Amino acid sequence: MNSVNPAARLHYLKAMGIQQWVRRSLPVLDAEELPTETITPPSVNTANLQTHLQSLRQGLRNNDKPTVIQKEIPAIVETNALNFIDREVQVLANLDWIALEHRVTACTACRLHQSRTQTVFGAGNQQADWLLIGEAPGADEDLQGEPFVGKAGQLLTQILTALQLPRTQVYIANVLKCRPPDNRNPAPDELACCTPFLDRQIALIQPKIIIALGAFAAQHLLNTNKPIGELRGKQHSYAKTGIPLIATYHPAYLLRSPSQKTKVWNDFQVACQIFANLQP
Ligand code: URA
Repeated sequence: MNSVNPAARLHYLKAMGIQQWVRRSLPVLDAEELPTETITPPSVNTANLQTHLQSLRQGLRNNDKPTVIQKEIPAIVETNALNFIDREVQVLANLDWIALEHRVTACTACRLHQSRTQTVFGAGNQQADWLLIGEAPGADEDLQGEPFVGKAGQLLTQILTALQLPRTQVYIANVLKCRPPDNRNPAPDELACCTPFLDRQIALIQPKIIIALGAFAAQHLLNTNKPIGELRGKQHSYAKTGIPLIATYHPAYLLRSPSQKTKVWNDFQVACQIFANLQP
């Protein structure tokens, strides 16, 4: 909604039942500034949009997350991110796979587009029952344009093969589509800008089960600060959709702590059990 004037934007938000959120020194619009002409809000599922925007705003404000950079976000960056999200959620709702991938490829919503080699959209079966979600592309993924192709990815492939879940049968994506420089943790506004893409991927795939790989993905998807050791191996659900979700350690962590592999194996066994018990 960057192109609409602020008064019209407020009108839209009010019409959709979304409370205007104003940060620090940003001006609050008076009722007199509302446009006099009638503005028809875009046709969207307002209930979903409201939940979505609320959680994204919370993500933007939530600086306590231990895995997220603890920097103050300049108001203009935050406002741009929120404007982008408002517009993006509505645009993405109508996109098919090809259009969505093009939009990701062309995305310049946050600073990560300046340092990436390319975006890493996701890979695998677009009708998969299993969706695996990691944090963000690393150096190898940034170069090759595919998720989980480096050392951690090779370990993930081995785990999936042992589970008789070949990579071609599942879908693998990341929360962020661009590599954070030096593999630093994603910043809240980067996360907020990228979340609509992941949500659209989930809506298109309609997976039966989601596996969150590592603390970052798990905390983001479950909207919690709890440590991964507490989240792993239990059934959760992705709040926005109700899809069963299991969190486990990130394969990169297993490379550093191979003794934890058994726990990851057990977590996948829990996931297999949940999947087997799902109604067809
Ligand atoms: N780590 C991730 O979280 N995702 C990748 O794609 C690669 C490494």
